[in-house]
Amino acid sequence: MKVSNIQKGLLVRTMICAVSLAAACFFEASLNVQAAPRAQETGERVTVVIDPGHGGDNEGTLEGITKEKEMTMVTALAMYEELTKYDNVDVYLTHTDDVSMSLADRAQFAAERNADFLFSIHYNASVDHDLFGSEVWISSVQPYNAYGYQFGWEQMQQMKEMGLFLRGVKTKLKDNGDDYYGIIRESTARGIPSAIIEHCHVDEGRDIPYCQTEEDWKRFGREDALSVAKYFGLSDADTGVDYSAEADALPEVSLQSILPATIRDKTEPDICLLSLLSADYDTGEVTLEVTGTDYDCPMMYYDYSTDGGRTYSELQPWPDLDIMSGTYPDTFTFSLNFTKGEQPVITVRGYNQADLFTESASITFDKPFVDQEKAAKEALEASLAAEEAASLENASKDSTSDSIITMADAAGNNGIFQVLNDKKQVNFGVFLIICGILAALLLVIFLLYQIQLSRHKKRRRRNHNKNQNRNQSRNVSGDRSRHPR
Ligand SMILES: [Zn+2]
Repeated sequence: MKVSNIQKGLLVRTMICAVSLAAACFFEASLNVQAAPRAQETGERVTVVIDPGHGGDNEGTLEGITKEKEMTMVTALAMYEELTKYDNVDVYLTHTDDVSMSLADRAQFAAERNADFLFSIHYNASVDHDLFGSEVWISSVQPYNAYGYQFGWEQMQQMKEMGLFLRGVKTKLKDNGDDYYGIIRESTARGIPSAIIEHCHVDEGRDIPYCQTEEDWKRFGREDALSVAKYFGLSDADTGVDYSAEADALPEVSLQSILPATIRDKTEPDICLLSLLSADYDTGEVTLEVTGTDYDCPMMYYDYSTDGGRTYSELQPWPDLDIMSGTYPDTFTFSLNFTKGEQPVITVRGYNQADLFTESASITFDKPFVDQEKAAKEALEASLAAEEAASLENASKDSTSDSIITMADAAGNNGIFQVLNDKKQVNFGVFLIICGILAALLLVIFLLYQIQLSRHKKRRRRNHNKNQNRNQSRNVSGDRSRHPR
């Protein structure tokens, strides 16, 4: 455990409490959802224009299973079909063929039909293929900002029910302060409220299951229609469906100035801290605490690195985030496991709603974690060696101990069996063979010795006789030498 990091964490936490309290107050004031009637006034019937995003040469993102323009058309047609079931609505599509159509022409199409709203249908993809979730883009200009926010809030409820991560209802501006997205700019210029519905990201693992098949794209269309029906309080006498009460249960909005919740933050999160709560070198489990805050908008994602920032995990949703109320915990814990002998350098990045991040300082460790696989292998080898040693010891004990095991006669006789175990029978047999060989050797040696002894005696006798003869002949020759010729 790194005391220094924990102390650091405790020190800053007090400061952050004050900061996040201020941030919470800001969100409470600006975002807390109070049930309110729809701000947009309409006649008895409403006119809705659905704009399938892209078309013709403008194919949209190509990162998904097919071209975005094909997906948006399927979704828009399903939305049209669903929406036309309601009594008090007229529905139009900006185009139904695969044609290039300028954004101005689409907005003009809506203006010419006196549309109450233009909904532009899209699917998303990100440069690094790492973002996921559903979002709605709206105008920064009032009253369209307020109308857009109330519709977007309804749309987010539908996307949340589908299980999608929510990225919120937002504005994006150009440097000159105009709305960034052309369809919104063109619609606002013609007095038409508008919203871009970015259903999900076609290039991210967590969103992909939502947009793989034509049925998936149709489902989005039906969900969009439901959001619109609820926003406008539509009803259908045939089925008895009536959403008029829903149109009175929208979030409270002000028509005076742009809603703070929809303003895109241009700065990184103000605080992102990482502290180590515990590190277990035996199990490899490390528990970390993240503290992150942005004074302007909610925190949305985090990711972490275990190699000092060279590579990062996939983005994780900020735990317990409620993007529509703007509430999120500024502190949470998460655990990592190091089981391969790593000596990690851990950093975390906290992302705000504008996908901007702040990186924490790094947490380092004095020694590497245990390589669990290697340790398990070594433990297995050690236990096998110990087992082998124990069995050898037992074997030697057995050979010296009494080899007779007595046991009761299973047949009920009172006699006692003497059971010799196999090993001892083998040992006794070997002993007998060795004794036999030794006896045979001794016999052979004894016989050889006897033969040698008898030969030696004969030789000695023969030599004795020879010596007698030699002495006699030496006397004769000696005479000869003393008398040369
Ligand atoms: Zn698009």
